[in-house]
Amino acid sequence: MSRRAVAVRIEGIVQGVGFRPFVYGLATRLGLAGLVGNDERGVFIEVEGGSAPVEEFLAALTGDPPPLAVIERITTGPAPVTGRRTFAIAPSAAGGDRHALVSPDVATCDACLRDLTDPADRRCGYAFTNCTGCGPRFTIVRDVPYDRANTTMAGFLMCADCAREYHDPGDRRFHAQPVCCPACGPSLRFHGPGGSGAAGDPLEPAVRLLREGGVLAVKGLGGYHLAALAADEPAVAALRSRKHREDKPFAVMAGDVAAARRLCVVDRAEERLLTGPARPVVLLRRLPDASVAPSVAPSVAPGNRWLGVLLPYTPLHHLLLRALGQPIVLTSGNVSDEPIAYRDEDALERLGGIADAFLTHDRPIHIRTDDSVVRVFRGRDLPIRRSRGYVPHPLPLARAARRPVLACGAELKHTFCLVKDDRAFVSHHIGDLENYETLRSFTEGVDHFRRLFDITPEVVAHDLHPDYLSTKWALDQDADLVGVQHHHAHIASCLADNGVAGPVAGVAFDGLGYGSDGTLWGGEFLVADLAGFERAGHLAPVPMPGGATAIRQPWRMAAAYLDLAYDGDVPEDLDVVRRNAGQWAAVVALARRGVNAPLTSSMGRLFDAVAAVAGVRDAITYEGQAAVEFEQLADPAVDDAYPCGLVSAGTRFAVPGEELVHAVAGDLRAGVPREVVAARFHNAVARVVADGCTLVRKACGLSTVALSGGVFQNLLLLGRAVTLLEERGFTVLTHHRVPPNDGGVSLGQAAVAAAMAANSPIRGVRRELSQARHTWFGGMSETGT
Ligand SMILES: [Zn+2]
Ligand SMILES: [Zn+2]
Repeated sequence: MSRRAVAVRIEGIVQGVGFRPFVYGLATRLGLAGLVGNDERGVFIEVEGGSAPVEEFLAALTGDPPPLAVIERITTGPAPVTGRRTFAIAPSAAGGDRHALVSPDVATCDACLRDLTDPADRRCGYAFTNCTGCGPRFTIVRDVPYDRANTTMAGFLMCADCAREYHDPGDRRFHAQPVCCPACGPSLRFHGPGGSGAAGDPLEPAVRLLREGGVLAVKGLGGYHLAALAADEPAVAALRSRKHREDKPFAVMAGDVAAARRLCVVDRAEERLLTGPARPVVLLRRLPDASVAPSVAPSVAPGNRWLGVLLPYTPLHHLLLRALGQPIVLTSGNVSDEPIAYRDEDALERLGGIADAFLTHDRPIHIRTDDSVVRVFRGRDLPIRRSRGYVPHPLPLARAARRPVLACGAELKHTFCLVKDDRAFVSHHIGDLENYETLRSFTEGVDHFRRLFDITPEVVAHDLHPDYLSTKWALDQDADLVGVQHHHAHIASCLADNGVAGPVAGVAFDGLGYGSDGTLWGGEFLVADLAGFERAGHLAPVPMPGGATAIRQPWRMAAAYLDLAYDGDVPEDLDVVRRNAGQWAAVVALARRGVNAPLTSSMGRLFDAVAAVAGVRDAITYEGQAAVEFEQLADPAVDDAYPCGLVSAGTRFAVPGEELVHAVAGDLRAGVPREVVAARFHNAVARVVADGCTLVRKACGLSTVALSGGVFQNLLLLGRAVTLLEERGFTVLTHHRVPPNDGGVSLGQAAVAAAMAANSPIRGVRRELSQARHTWFGGMSETGT
């Protein structure tokens, strides 16, 4: 029988995920000889034997790889036949794995769960059980190459049993860097009112404390959480008041999918997300009676039809939930909007006034990483926050960057992004970049990513907003700077998310972003590709009376809009006017004078205005609250919409938002139920999206639409807009890998910077666009769009 030898190279996430044992097992089973090893580019294999088994081997490599492996590229070529008889795992050269990709943290696998509950297993009940298929990764990595000495497990010396597993290619813990057991690994500790709990299992006093209504700080993978029984109203209310978190919903950890189903509707896509290796918080529709059911106290998510649910993702969570037998609130360990605590001393100090006790351990967390949050839209992921479980997995770019790029992101929900070649490494969630502590997280994060992925940025991309800390920092860097307009970055982010380069009709609706003309944008129709954009249309600008105060007090936007809608003669019988009668005249005067009342075309502010007019909320305690509650108010059975014709505004079209506000106020005065009003408004905005895109298509032939910006986290609006656009024959791009909100902006900035040097198809479009402009509105009246 003729022997054949093949050399294989595999790139992607193939280290630290059990790839070598998989290859070893496969080759041995097929009777093949050769070797497998890790190097800086991934995994290399030389395999030789009979032609048929070699073919079978190659097919199985891609057909059935280890569950956590992500194969980005596989290349094969002939190799000299050496006549060797055995298969071996080659030792890694020192520094050889240096640039291999670090995996995200992975939820406890089924095999480790079995170890955890098997009385005969030495890891039974052990809170740090892991293997090559699961466990901490990104959160414990200090440096590359990824081996134990460069993780926060370095201080734990493997016992003989663990070392045997670690070195056995047939074992599922072969080269699992965080491998450990009760004899050699980290241990749990309980710090309670009675001191540091003496003998016995630290889990017991922790469980007792929760059962008795206490608030427990629990050290997780990426930081500390605060826990309380989800059914215990006084406990949850106490947690809320101590944390100074007034209304923003808490997430709930349920023991398993069945327990989640007792609280919420869980469809197949949601179940896949809940039980998958990333284990994000999944926003689920609550069961109709869930607010009165004893399983979730009213203070968990006040007045919310949705509930954020996650399943246990570490052995410690599994042990805790199993012992309790009921769901817990599990929320970030912080006060108000500060970053989540992740260092032990800092946590004890900062959370001491909130938690009654601490369940902690001695495995350090290197990088603070918040839980990810995801919704499901039409069976696919719609990320709200991309962090633990997803980061630092790179996203592929449609166009490779000629030079390495650092994109500094925006301000709220901040992330940054580093690009090398065609890979974009979007960072974990940094938080709202508004103070020294988050700024430091940002700069330390950049240094860490640069080291992990060996990227020295030559181009630095940033927002145009001169006051963002990220912009100021960027301007100090010694690199080529690229300023990227905020909403262009949103659309570019949606393009990169979908792996396309454009051009498209981009609809970017969000709270606020700095416009190229120095005003505040946020209701934008752009003709855009990665390299550039034209502003085709926008929401008609209105004053924001009091500037930032108008963001916290949506009724001020109602005042500005109503003043325009009624031409200065606002009906006094409107509830929003009555409720704010004391300040109404002064705020309207502010808006009219235009002093401390910057103009904005923001769709988020229009939602705020309408929510206030409809009596949802005059002031907010967290970003987007009025709009979130307004969405939930809407009756999804209502299909009709308020009329809103697009009008000419110089070379662009404008959306007269005050017409919508007028219609809303009119309906409310006529006694139309608020649920119907909210639905009609959502339907009207969806129609505005479709009408605007239809105008753009008429002008320059673009029939692909990209929807981005925080407003598109609104599933009612997103669903209706996508349906309308598809009915009109558009291809619609939405977000699936990075959030539509500002958490995705860094990817967009990076994609723009990477594409700047390349030739751009938008140039052709731009010419067509300028020729077409003057015909847009003529065309509109001809066909009556
Ligand atoms: Zn495992
Ligand atoms: Zn051990």
